[in-house]
Amino acid sequence: MKRTIVLLGPPGSGKGTQGEKLGQELGYVRLSTGDMLREAVRNGTPLGLKAKEYMDSGALVPNDLIINLMKEKIASLRAGTGVIFDGFPRTVEQADALGEQIDVDLALNLDVNDSELVNRLTKRRTCPECNAVYHLDYNPPKKSGICDKCGSELYQRDDDKEETVMNRLKVYRENTMPLIEYYEKKGKLQTIMGVGSIDEIFEKVKKAVL
Ligand code: AMP
Repeated sequence: MKRTIVLLGPPGSGKGTQGEKLGQELGYVRLSTGDMLREAVRNGTPLGLKAKEYMDSGALVPNDLIINLMKEKIASLRAGTGVIFDGFPRTVEQADALGEQIDVDLALNLDVNDSELVNRLTKRRTCPECNAVYHLDYNPPKKSGICDKCGSELYQRDDDKEETVMNRLKVYRENTMPLIEYYEKKGKLQTIMGVGSIDEIFEKVKKAVL
């Protein structure tokens, strides 16, 4: 089993959903910079106050803030823990910083076309408490508007509204897509078509990981 996995792919490609399933079924710790930042914003921490404006417009939060945040998290992992990075790294500078701290065994790239991404993101609903995600058509909660897992009220992330989604896809292409080649050159890359049902995609993800 691969120990350190980076999930690559545009926003809406299923990194969070597949990362969560890998955590549940195979015991990985999932570290999502997006979840950490949203929590910091909710709690009004200094990091949250600095990050909010960038996140609201779909821009990237500056590298130094993200790299410091992840350094602390990585340092606090127990030795030997399997870890999945979801939404990090998003720039070459972040990937270099990660590589200085930990050896990446696999960069798993989820490939999904743009029109599908827009559909997934604009119809996504998120739980503010446990970070579970739903889709209004493909993966609706059992009770409308309520999280199956913890009973909290679901919301639409501000950055899942259509105007911001288009900017996030542009930011992805400009800043994060180069990481596909970055990990390919290191011989770490595997690409999976991220379309089909969540379980079908998960079968392919598991094959790549085991
Ligand atoms: P996500 O939940 O991964 O889609 O992240 C939501 C937002 O948080 C992004 O649009 C960025 O504004 C910010 N963010 C998350 N991860 C990173 C990162 N590694 N580098 C810079 N900004 C990030």
